[in-house]
Amino acid sequence: MSLCPICRKAEPDPRYKPFCSRRCSDVDLQRWFAGAYAIPAALDETVDEDDEKD
Ligand SMILES: [Zn+2]
Repeated sequence: MSLCPICRKAEPDPRYKPFCSRRCSDVDLQRWFAGAYAIPAALDETVDEDDEKD
């Protein structure tokens, strides 16, 4: 038996697997976005440098 990876208190709901609720599913999504946004921001700076060489 596994518990929801976000709150670690409730069993996963089949609709929100592996999370127990919509809320926990949203929390995981926000964490994922927070990590995903950090990378394009760094790449943007590299693109600016390339522009100056032109
Ligand atoms: Zn949960």
